[in-house]
Amino acid sequence: QRSDDHPAQNGQNLRSPICCIMGHVDTGKTKLLDCIRGTNVQEGEAGGITQQIGATYFPAENIRERTMELKADAKLNVPGLLVIDTPGHESFTNLRSRGSGLCDIAILVVDIMHGLEPQTIESLNLLKMRNTDFIVALNKVDRLNGWKTCRNAPIRKAMNQQTKNVQDQFNGKLNQIRGQFMEQGLNTELYYKNKSMGETFSIVPTSAIRTLNFVASSHMLVIVANSGEGIPDLLLLLVQWAQRTMVKRLTYSNEVQCTVLEVKVVEGHGTTIDVVLVNGVLREGDQVVVCGLQGTYLHHKEIKAAQGIKITAQGLEHTIAGTSLYVVGPRDDLENIKEAAMEDMKSVMTRIDKS
Ligand code: GDP
Repeated sequence: QRSDDHPAQNGQNLRSPICCIMGHVDTGKTKLLDCIRGTNVQEGEAGGITQQIGATYFPAENIRERTMELKADAKLNVPGLLVIDTPGHESFTNLRSRGSGLCDIAILVVDIMHGLEPQTIESLNLLKMRNTDFIVALNKVDRLNGWKTCRNAPIRKAMNQQTKNVQDQFNGKLNQIRGQFMEQGLNTELYYKNKSMGETFSIVPTSAIRTLNFVASSHMLVIVANSGEGIPDLLLLLVQWAQRTMVKRLTYSNEVQCTVLEVKVVEGHGTTIDVVLVNGVLREGDQVVVCGLQGTYLHHKEIKAAQGIKITAQGLEHTIAGTSLYVVGPRDDLENIKEAAMEDMKSVMTRIDKS
């Protein structure tokens, strides 16, 4: 616990929700993230998006701009959204066995042509176990026969452009997949028809395929871009759902909560650790403890949650992904904190052994 206070960033003083993307292999998790990240970058304007260590940070302003067409008056109370990039991270395996989830909310990607697959069920079980809320991205809608691309359009707008035949195909697949969720004991509904979010999980149809756009001029110009239908819906729903239902969980706290995502050797830096700062502020010169190892970090004077950060320091070699990072406050006893770190590591290790 820090002794000093951090000023409120907004009325409610919420931190950014942390979101992860889960689902079966090849459902389009990577493409979907590209798409979420890519829109403004292609226009040569990064819109404040920063791709961080194993995570991408989207400022609220960027989300507001991109969802304007959907809801011009969207009120965003959180500073932004932090999306964890690589669900394959080691810590996710560790976190599986831990009660506490790193993510506040998840996107569960399902391929509309394949429905629920083995790893979808696995992800579902993990989410249920951790009691993590999620939104279903029903991806690859462009694979419906005759789909007309409407780049980055809100999904209802895109759906209205489709022929009756495409809409019928969509409804057929949707009902089939809702039935499969029902078999898993879960009610699902298209997000814009969902009147009881919380009990019924929302489905956002999406498309994240890279398409070639032929623009005729004196020379043929080919533009490669992601289709992106439903992405504005997904972003807005994520943020609004999180800020509406997780106020307590997202309330900014001065207590540093920080999880190690990955331990990596980087040339010129030695062993580094990538961490997600879930809550609190890390400041230059802070003394940190990871699994009983000690070090300091540089470069940033101060970083406020939620953010993904790379820490380089001596003695990080033995850090274990999935464990917590502790900050030693001025009134704290270093030995006590070391003990807590070791206890945390033991609990992670025991759970890994068991699983
Ligand atoms: P991941 O394994 O879940 O990360 O899946 P990827 O993002 O790597 O995508 C797997 C394959 O599906 C790739 O060949 C993608 O081009 C393709 N793909 C991803 N999203 C879409 C989509 O929305 N529509 C179509 N038609 N293909 C997609």
